[in-house]
Amino acid sequence: MAKKVIIIGAGLAGLSAGIHLQNNGIESEIFEISGQVGGMCIAWERQGYRFDGCIHWMVGTKKGDNFYNLYREVDALAEDTEIYNSDSITAEIDGVLYEIPLRFEQFKAFLLQLAPQDEKSIEQFCTEVAVFANSSMPTGAPANPAEFFSFLKNNSGFMSLAGKYMNTSVQEYTERFESPLLKKLVFHLMPPEFSYFGLIMMLGTRMSGNAGYPMGGALGVANRMKAKYISLGGKLNMSTRVERIVVENGRVTGIVAKGKTYHCDAVVAACDAYDTLNNMLEGKFRHKQLDEMLKTSPLFDPLVLISFGLNKRFNLPYATDYECPEGLETAPGFTVNGYNLRTFEFDLSAAPEGCSSIMVMTGAPLEYWESLRKTDIEKYRAEKAALAQRVAELLDKRIPGIRESIVVTDVATPATYMRYANLYKGSWEGFVPIPKALRTNIKTSVEGVKGLVLAGQWVNAGGGLCTAVQSGKSAALKIVKNKL
Ligand SMILES: Cc1cc2nc3c(=O)[nH]c(=O)nc-3n(C[C@H](O)[C@H](O)[C@H](O)COP(=O)(O)OP(=O)(O)OC[C@H]3O[C@@H](n4cnc5c(N)ncnc54)[C@H](O)[C@@H]3O)c2cc1C
Repeated sequence: MAKKVIIIGAGLAGLSAGIHLQNNGIESEIFEISGQVGGMCIAWERQGYRFDGCIHWMVGTKKGDNFYNLYREVDALAEDTEIYNSDSITAEIDGVLYEIPLRFEQFKAFLLQLAPQDEKSIEQFCTEVAVFANSSMPTGAPANPAEFFSFLKNNSGFMSLAGKYMNTSVQEYTERFESPLLKKLVFHLMPPEFSYFGLIMMLGTRMSGNAGYPMGGALGVANRMKAKYISLGGKLNMSTRVERIVVENGRVTGIVAKGKTYHCDAVVAACDAYDTLNNMLEGKFRHKQLDEMLKTSPLFDPLVLISFGLNKRFNLPYATDYECPEGLETAPGFTVNGYNLRTFEFDLSAAPEGCSSIMVMTGAPLEYWESLRKTDIEKYRAEKAALAQRVAELLDKRIPGIRESIVVTDVATPATYMRYANLYKGSWEGFVPIPKALRTNIKTSVEGVKGLVLAGQWVNAGGGLCTAVQSGKSAALKIVKNKL
């Protein structure tokens, strides 16, 4: 069995792997590019305000759920972490704001009122969401026949829906709806190219109170895991980029960081897959599935987050998708026609008393922001401020008074994400969960390299916090069981 393991990346996958290795008596050390843990599970604290750049819905927040138990093992959630489950989300369609309930009966009634002509299809859709909600999701392969039979029994709803819809996109599913408005609304919930299975998972878990927001947000999750890892004797090397994974005679023997070689018996690469294969392994070893997917599978588009600390509260809904027919330029020549506005008013720890923090999230090109940051940092800062100004003006038209209540501004561009997590093409959640990607069981080993395990969002299409925590655990157990 490996005695010493090096983990690349202090995102949730890397931290989870480290905690499980330490728990199993294996010495581990994490190397992380950024100065803070969490990777994409990230938030920014500014003058008493906190802007959460991650958690909208965290699958498995309900006590007793399989994922909840995984979170508890690594302290991603504490016993007393309060969970906020929003009752609804809001979307603007053709100039009208719709409040979409996230409770079963209200959701069904809302859809029926919106599209009575689709009654039969709506009944079926809602039944599928309910079946998903009443089924538990597996968090790993069964270890023995008894576990296998209990797995089949407890996950029958999940298994039958997965079998039926794994190949179906949201677009294909919605073809049964006659109402164009209903189709548009569903596309607000999940983009048309995504897997339909992902849609019912999102709705099922949220409606059953199993995909909430843990109070304290992303920082709370990441910092609790960091504390757990350190308490178990784990070692963190922050602001340290791994440049190379050393392979000798087909086996990993160490890594190189800041020009120094660190020896180990195994490596968990809980970081970007492209960087691992093409830079750290110098393109000498291939991974057929990932090589292909990195070339052809759609990725999440880069984002810009514009956050404001407000000196009062506006009683805003949890999340609103606004249309923006006038266009918002997030880089020269790059205009978006919609944005998502989130408020953290429900989390009193996110702002000083009587105040609130809000965040606008929308698309922006990586190349522009990355190159500007590298070549002209002053202009980069000025452009960020100008973008924040444009967004404040737009918001003020929607919510009068917001602009004059802004006391703190923060802008995270795609370049910020690259700095914090070194993501291939700025994809903050890896591969988009289209049916083909979701069906692919991505191998966690690289051909020709013993002792290397891949973990995290790049080996689980669709990414997410629950899969990161789970995949870190699987990587650790692979090493513990000597299945390298
Ligand atoms: C805006 C936004 C909203 C999101 N919303 C949700 C949500 O609501 N629900 C949900 O479940 N998920 C959400 N996610 C996705 C979720 O945050 C990620 O899928 C998950 O955190 C990925 O964890 P990871 O450990 O696999 O990878 P990462 O978090 O990417 O961690 C990888 C780490 O490796 C480090 N690293 C990379 N290369 C090297 C190197 N060479 N040397 C050293 N370190 C290296 C990086 O710096 C990074 O810290 C969201 C993400 C974003 C950005």
